[in-house]
Amino acid sequence: MIIDCHGHYTTAPKALESWRNQQIAGIKDPSAKPKVADLKISDDELRESIETNQLRLMKERGSDLTIFSPRASFMAHHIGDFEVSSTWAAICNELCYRVSQLFPDHFIGAAMLPQSPGVDPATCIPELEKCVKDYGFVGINLNPDPSGGHWTSPPLTDRHWYPIYEKMVEYDIPAMIHVSTSCNACFHTTGAHYLNADTTAFMQCLQGDLFKDFPTLKFVIPHGGGAVPYHWGRFRGLAQEMKKPLLQDHLLNNIFFDTCVYHQPGIDLLTKVIPVDNILFASEMIGAVRGIDPESGHYYDDTKRYVQATANLSEEERFKVYEGNARRVFPRLDAALKAKGK
Ligand SMILES: [Zn+2]
Repeated sequence: MIIDCHGHYTTAPKALESWRNQQIAGIKDPSAKPKVADLKISDDELRESIETNQLRLMKERGSDLTIFSPRASFMAHHIGDFEVSSTWAAICNELCYRVSQLFPDHFIGAAMLPQSPGVDPATCIPELEKCVKDYGFVGINLNPDPSGGHWTSPPLTDRHWYPIYEKMVEYDIPAMIHVSTSCNACFHTTGAHYLNADTTAFMQCLQGDLFKDFPTLKFVIPHGGGAVPYHWGRFRGLAQEMKKPLLQDHLLNNIFFDTCVYHQPGIDLLTKVIPVDNILFASEMIGAVRGIDPESGHYYDDTKRYVQATANLSEEERFKVYEGNARRVFPRLDAALKAKGK
């Protein structure tokens, strides 16, 4: 089977966005603040939003199951306070849970956390627990920069983040390191802020010794790892100068990259540079880049084509990228599939 480890609910019914706009209006004008119960989205609306979008494309392109999380750019942790983030995260996670219940063979959830700038990440734990225990979610998205492009939080290796890591280790769930929208005009959200964050997260881990404290902690760095695979020699060299172990031993038991690169030479490079055990299939569909590549005639985010076409992978290795690695990195996904005889 083909598991796409990176999909967001970018096509949620418009009522969700309207509710969020009301919530944001309510920050300045408490009389405008909506109640959670004001948001009404029926199962039929959810079904339609998925069947005509993600599920249609999954069937056309030949992927089977998507690890599905709330729309990343809409997390916008920088807006409002913890209470605002907490209510918003609960709503978004519940919608992904409902999608996973409506299409149990095709979607399984990953949680957005109610992060808020300057607030102790431990406050995210109740939402995380609910998503794993009650919703059967198999991972989380962790935003290394809840300030939205101003980087006011300590690096991911700081003890600041440890309460989340302790819970992740307890539940055996990985985190996709995923920022949200940029509110810094210097950084375009998906073209710069996302890729900067991917690269930054890797470098923070390289500088620190986080995985000595948490040997089983797992991070998925999305968007092909940002600049990391392309500059692998730079990172190896920096690790050497910092007297760190080889990257293979220092980071690659714990850090994985997805395949959201959107062109063939990018996937060729990724699969040549990064060990196959550290690459997980993903498309981030329907996401940042929705057009058709005039050079290939296919959608940029139809990433299966590139994985299929690369000469760097044997069939056995392709299986790892499509399925085997995802089962290893997301043990709760593997357990859920096995429980269904898959
Ligand atoms: Zn994403």
